[in-house]
Amino acid sequence: MSALNLIRPEIRALSAYHVQPAEGFIKLDAMENPWPLTPALQQRLGERLARAAYNRYPDANPQALKTLISKVFAVPEGAELLLGNGSDELIQILAQALARPGAALLSVEPAFVMFRVLANACGLEYIGVPLQEDFSVDLLAMLAVIRARQPALIFLAIPNNPTGNAFAPEAIQAILKEATGIVVIDEAYFPFRDGSYLSFLPNFPNMLVMRTVSKLGLAGIRLGFLAGAPELLGELEKLRLPYNISVATQVIAQTVLEEGHALNDQTQQLRQERVRVFTALRDIQGVHPFESEANFILLRVLDAQGVFDALKRHGILIKNLSNAHALLRGCLRVTVGTPEQNDRFLDALKASVLAVA
Ligand SMILES: *Cc1c(COP(=O)(O)O)cnc(C)c1O
Repeated sequence: MSALNLIRPEIRALSAYHVQPAEGFIKLDAMENPWPLTPALQQRLGERLARAAYNRYPDANPQALKTLISKVFAVPEGAELLLGNGSDELIQILAQALARPGAALLSVEPAFVMFRVLANACGLEYIGVPLQEDFSVDLLAMLAVIRARQPALIFLAIPNNPTGNAFAPEAIQAILKEATGIVVIDEAYFPFRDGSYLSFLPNFPNMLVMRTVSKLGLAGIRLGFLAGAPELLGELEKLRLPYNISVATQVIAQTVLEEGHALNDQTQQLRQERVRVFTALRDIQGVHPFESEANFILLRVLDAQGVFDALKRHGILIKNLSNAHALLRGCLRVTVGTPEQNDRFLDALKASVLAVA
């Protein structure tokens, strides 16, 4: 087929984002909140969704929703918002806006894979500086790359996916001071951690904070936002497709965020479960869990593929990251679920580790 030869070689070299089939499994692979909305919210939403104007294009600039988001998530005075169809779309918009010849996107490795995928897709060079053995930032290496290459974009997820740790604030400060490009702090896991970089915004005009409602409990509606200087976001706004946030997404976000505490109860419970699961993991022979500030835990075992397969036979789906990066050798990542799901996982893990030993 001759058209295939017209596809850019860097696109042909990519593999499609792979989502594991999850039918029939206890699904602990994708950092989803395990609970549906509360019955009260479901009822309110049902009524509002039934009446929404699906015959019309969505509000292209949903100001009321932005104001609500700013209030609920304590975005500092003076910062503007850019809404995305998930934060994935915001990474794409940033990469598109900054992809000029020679421009680079810098992140750490291992990191969220979409940083690299979207850099490649949009024509930015991707530079990934390996983390240290304990998953902390190699600050000297980062600063050296920043000086030598002046990357147009730097992405740092705090807490980091897939390692779960939050990088030291001193390292982030040093990177912010050295960087000449845009520094994006990706706070996808903000509901599971105290502390945020939102308060840095007024002092660092080249910095943006990115958040999503996905890990909070609304992965299905696709909504993320960038917060930062109005001038900068005004330029990125030109690349946003005008109707990227659907009518349904706007209604759902508005309704759920007005009642923000419903999801807070769930995320607080997940934080408690994270502590419980971590402690239980530490007590299993042959399992080494890493401390996490997110809604997942990275763990190292002797035979990652063997344990992963055995867990699947027990009906439990997690993520095998053993071949994703040298620092992740032997590593699996499990999302924190309901107390019952976590018990099932822990029991199955104990059996699986014994079975493959
Ligand atoms: C899950 C995740 C995202 C993507 O969030 P969406 O809003 O669902 O697109 C972004 N960054 C990190 C670090 C993530 O883990």
